[in-house]
Amino acid sequence: MTCKDVIDILSEYLEEALDATAVASLEQHLRDCPPCVAYLRTFRKSHQLAGQVSQAPMPPEMKQRLRSFLAAQLRDSVH
Ligand SMILES: [Zn+2]
Repeated sequence: MTCKDVIDILSEYLEEALDATAVASLEQHLRDCPPCVAYLRTFRKSHQLAGQVSQAPMPPEMKQRLRSFLAAQLRDSVH
């Protein structure tokens, strides 16, 4: 699983909409990929904040911002 795969399924992961196999490979990726862990943490926080304000799903603009955040994290990492 690549970082892009993680991003693609992250919202389903948080909504517990993934099957066990996908969850296992996602969590395995997270063990070896600090940028994705940081991304997940930010994503989850934004998700919770958005949920408190309204029950609306995350706006596309925020998703885009998180993607940029992860891209920056990956650029800065040594991988
Ligand atoms: Zn990753």
